[in-house]
Amino acid sequence: MREKIVAGNWKMNTTIGEGKKLIEDILSGMDRVPAGVTLITATPFTHLCPAAHLIGDRRNPALAAQNCANRESGAFTGEVSASMLASVSCRYVILGHSERREYYGETNEILLEKIKLALAHSLRPIFCVGEVLQERETNMHFQVVSSQLREVLCQLDPEDFKKVIVAYEPVWAIGTGKTATSEQAQEMHAFIRAFLAGTFGELAQSTPILYGGSCKPSNAAELFSRPDVDGGLIGGASLKADDFLAIAGSFA
Ligand code: PEP
Repeated sequence: MREKIVAGNWKMNTTIGEGKKLIEDILSGMDRVPAGVTLITATPFTHLCPAAHLIGDRRNPALAAQNCANRESGAFTGEVSASMLASVSCRYVILGHSERREYYGETNEILLEKIKLALAHSLRPIFCVGEVLQERETNMHFQVVSSQLREVLCQLDPEDFKKVIVAYEPVWAIGTGKTATSEQAQEMHAFIRAFLAGTFGELAQSTPILYGGSCKPSNAAELFSRPDVDGGLIGGASLKADDFLAIAGSFA
């Protein structure tokens, strides 16, 4: 049985007051999350400490950051390191989100540095891959995703690879309201698992692969019913506790 995970990516949204309220609403609805499903909230950096305080000793939900630096420490103004994240009870970090790749020039090389630092500080990376619309329309999507996997995840030691979570996020589906069909998601997730098995063998059978891109309460059950879809990475719908909890409750 693979882990089931629903992770919310808040992006650059919510003031501290709004963020605390959202955490409180999630905490009070945790009875809607089926046993065995891990809920993760990726808040802005500024919200991690107060969120950790509200969550207290609970293992579920867990906290994630949306990024970390590709350097250990030092004169890197404005950056937040993996060790800083670990020191505020953060257990996961999203890396390689398409918005980071597109707007902040994050290359696979930089992402490999970040993943190694995250793992060195016991943070589990949620590594995002996915193609843009033109790449899908020209049938390049498998090639694009395989190079993102080859240049980053396939460079890790098997012991490190075991801790990684993959998120397949077709860029054309992010924030657009246009969701991949469950057939498209399953096809790519199965491809990702087979590709990773080429390097890591049986270990790839245990890798959680999440779907991200306009996932909402109305389509989550259908997506999560597919054998290689182990949960979701949720953007917009994670900003409403009710929707986020409904998505987490969508596993059969
Ligand atoms: C995301 O940005 O990771 C995402 C999946 O966004 P949305 O759910 O809003 O499409």
